[in-house]
Amino acid sequence: MTSRVLVINSGSSSLKYQVVDAVDGDVLAVGLVERIGTTGGVISHEVGGEKHVLRRDVPDHDAAMAAMTEAFVSHGPQLETVGLIAVGHRVVQGGEEYERPVVIDDNVVRVVTELVDLAPLHNPANLAGIRVARAHFPDLPHVAIFDTAFHMTVPPVAHTYAIDADVARRHRVRRYGFHGTSHAYVSREAARLLGRPPAETNMIVLHLGNGASATAVRGGESVDTSMGLTPLEGLVMGTRSGDIDPAIVFHLARTAGMDIDEIDDLLNKRSGVLGLSGRQDMRDLVAAAETGDTAAMLALDVYCYRLRKYVGAYTAALGRVDAVVFTAGVGENSAAVRARTLAGLEVLGIELDAEANAATGRTARDIALPGSRVRVLVVPTNEELEIARQAAEVVNR
Ligand code: ADP
Repeated sequence: MTSRVLVINSGSSSLKYQVVDAVDGDVLAVGLVERIGTTGGVISHEVGGEKHVLRRDVPDHDAAMAAMTEAFVSHGPQLETVGLIAVGHRVVQGGEEYERPVVIDDNVVRVVTELVDLAPLHNPANLAGIRVARAHFPDLPHVAIFDTAFHMTVPPVAHTYAIDADVARRHRVRRYGFHGTSHAYVSREAARLLGRPPAETNMIVLHLGNGASATAVRGGESVDTSMGLTPLEGLVMGTRSGDIDPAIVFHLARTAGMDIDEIDDLLNKRSGVLGLSGRQDMRDLVAAAETGDTAAMLALDVYCYRLRKYVGAYTAALGRVDAVVFTAGVGENSAAVRARTLAGLEVLGIELDAEANAATGRTARDIALPGSRVRVLVVPTNEELEIARQAAEVVNR
């Protein structure tokens, strides 16, 4: 019995894929189809340490899936003989309907389609990937793994917005949370690093990529998370504002004459550290701040101050915190962000080891001082492996 899964992450203009072994984490191939729907498509396919790049227009997701299968035929591994047990699909919004992964049938497709209103940017692209993959691989079970599922344990006190209850119910307005696959994987790996059962471990997981979210994890379950109805709420991100006074929206509509789509675009695509400094990439931002660029310095401060506030808030929510865990591009790599975020938090029992923090590494590690009551961990995330594991668990059940 093999345990290989084809993992598909289908976005509106890109399709990422991996063939990964759900048991040993071995990656047999990894690829990316870019610029779907425009001209100048690029397909990169990596296998055995070698990268093959093909340039060709990819007008739609059907063409992207065809390009992917061709890459497997040309460069291997051959998908018929590799022993695939499932195709695992990342789906952003599973609503209240899905607390765990599910084998995709027509009914699941219908429910995910109904949830498009809640995730208009993401679910249609995920559905496009599901549709073409089911057509290309009709004999394999397809499993949907939802970004929101891990957060379905968040209790009402933390997922309820204090607005008119009827309006909220009718329009499904509540905190859903996102990045759940990453938070699930990282919190489990963090407990392993601490040598404790997840069920007895409390932690604050900071997933800091282009999008960023904080999650309070109690006993292995999400009990609060910073993203909300959409991925806009919470932390300051690459291009998203995170928390703001909601009345800023009314103010801009009334005084700047901006319409809803313009404000949506402003807060999602032109805010965050990009809006503050003109730089989206954390490497550029830190470098600019170090040369004394005042806009970059402020952006970095605002980014880290927001993180600090969430660490404080989730410490209060959890009561006892065993670890603060950093993950994703910024969390795994930026010693500057980690140091600025946690500086002065000794009062919460968090004491960072400056030397361990400055050391680079690709593996999970503890970077707190030996005597620190709360451990500080860096744990590389692996959403593809988590999707493969969850898909394998569903089909082997
Ligand atoms: P995504 O959300 O797109 O999956 P990633 O988790 O790959 O994002 O994170 C992307 C972010 O990680 C970028 O803002 C990038 O600047 C940042 N990053 C990557 N490497 C470093 C580094 N060495 N130092 C600081 N930031 C880094």
